[in-house]
Amino acid sequence: MAVKKRLNMRKRYELLTRGLAWEPSYQPREKVFPYEDFEGIKITDWDKWEDPFRLTADSYWKYQAEKDKKLYAVMDSFAQNDGFLNVSDASYINALKIFIQGVSPLEYQAHRGFAHLARQFAGEGAQIACQMQSIDELRHIQTQIHTISNYNKYFTGMHDPFHMHDRVWYLSVPKSFMDDARTAGPFEFITSISFSFEYLLTNLLFVPFMSGAAHNGDMSTVTFGFSAQSDESRHMTLGLGIIKFLLEQHEDNVPIVQKWMDKHFWRSYRLLGIVSAMQDYMLTESPLSWKEGWKIYFEDNAGALFNDLSRYGIKMPKFHEVATAEADHLSHQVYSVFYAFSHAAGFQTTVPSAKKMDWLSEKYPDTFDKYYRPRWEMWAEMEKEGKRFFNGGLPLDCQVCQIPMVFTDVVNGNPMKPTHRVSEYKGDKYHTCSDGCRDIFENEPEKYVQALVPPQQIFQGNCGGETIPDVLNWYHFAADDGGEYHGSTDEKNWKKWHGEQSDSGSQEKA
Ligand code: FE
Ligand code: ZN
Repeated sequence: MAVKKRLNMRKRYELLTRGLAWEPSYQPREKVFPYEDFEGIKITDWDKWEDPFRLTADSYWKYQAEKDKKLYAVMDSFAQNDGFLNVSDASYINALKIFIQGVSPLEYQAHRGFAHLARQFAGEGAQIACQMQSIDELRHIQTQIHTISNYNKYFTGMHDPFHMHDRVWYLSVPKSFMDDARTAGPFEFITSISFSFEYLLTNLLFVPFMSGAAHNGDMSTVTFGFSAQSDESRHMTLGLGIIKFLLEQHEDNVPIVQKWMDKHFWRSYRLLGIVSAMQDYMLTESPLSWKEGWKIYFEDNAGALFNDLSRYGIKMPKFHEVATAEADHLSHQVYSVFYAFSHAAGFQTTVPSAKKMDWLSEKYPDTFDKYYRPRWEMWAEMEKEGKRFFNGGLPLDCQVCQIPMVFTDVVNGNPMKPTHRVSEYKGDKYHTCSDGCRDIFENEPEKYVQALVPPQQIFQGNCGGETIPDVLNWYHFAADDGGEYHGSTDEKNWKKWHGEQSDSGSQEKA
């Protein structure tokens, strides 16, 4: 009797991912995969695609189900034991508001983007990898909604994040980033999301939020973070895999890929400006500073990676040295915008505490005391006099990254000099925040002139009305979602729950 031979993993994976499709006979191949040569990328042999994980569908489902079981057990016990009372401080919850408003909707768009790739790539190995990532991203947004919905019962700002994401001024920063990738061709999308964002920079998003959650007693968020992290390592491997595949397929792909890396590195980096502000200012306890994270996760890691890629003729992304020079300034500049405009935001801000300012002085010895502390002290003084500073105007936003013009010429040693740039296209002027964003604009002006830039839309009357309350209403912001943290509903409730002070005036949310 013949013994049935068991197939090894590699063989089984090959059977799963090779030779499943067919050569189309009654339609030409270009019509079946219309996006494949749309961007000028040349693929000579899809079978050269190597998926290093070789995950089969049944092991994928088993593994993910195991993780979900653990995660939902933690979430349940967190909810039943009023775990929200054990976070470091109610002000910490502002980090979660930014997460659910700004990051979670990107997970859903990533889900859709990878589903599109799974259909449009002609190679079966690539189709399977993209399909699994698409399902991962859907799971990410679901677990994030489930985790954060518990906080939504007790805190402001988390009641309508998807509506907010599509309309709110600061959320157009993440939204426009993802829209840019989603409206590009499939190879540019995967270079943007899988390589520039996930492979190169994901730790700069992930570590601050998840180890930030751990440092602030938020075990529920830590758990969804870990549950997503093991998917993330698969996504990062896909990111590097696709880049090497493209570079090895044809030498004509090299300059195209380099251009995409340059563009999406800069766009991803600008998006992370929001994370830098959250990490350095909004976390009650910060595990590491933006500058430290940039050194570890970009400077040290990217150096080795790009050394390896140099054999294909690939160079470090353009303007990486600007990003590195900005590490000393980024969070201070971005959080000052949040502080000054938080009356129109879905989270609260406040002047950093004395303890926090000392931490910032220690982490930013060359810049904080010299450039940023004096302004915080002035704003603290104004608040004490009952004149909490809010900027009553509307900022001028960058046409590409959509961040207000706060960046300065730090790379040339002029931190007080703005880097606002102006380009002309068909007789109109367009404003960008930096050489990085200007380059992106000028490479594809016909794309970026269509950008929906929130302050301009408000001035044109497209955002619910002429006054700030009209606009906030159109955003679906409640009256106590934004503004100053001290005296906010969240702070009052927090004190009451912890028996710290009687607050007769507090409006209870839950
Ligand atoms: Fe994800
Ligand atoms: Zn910009």
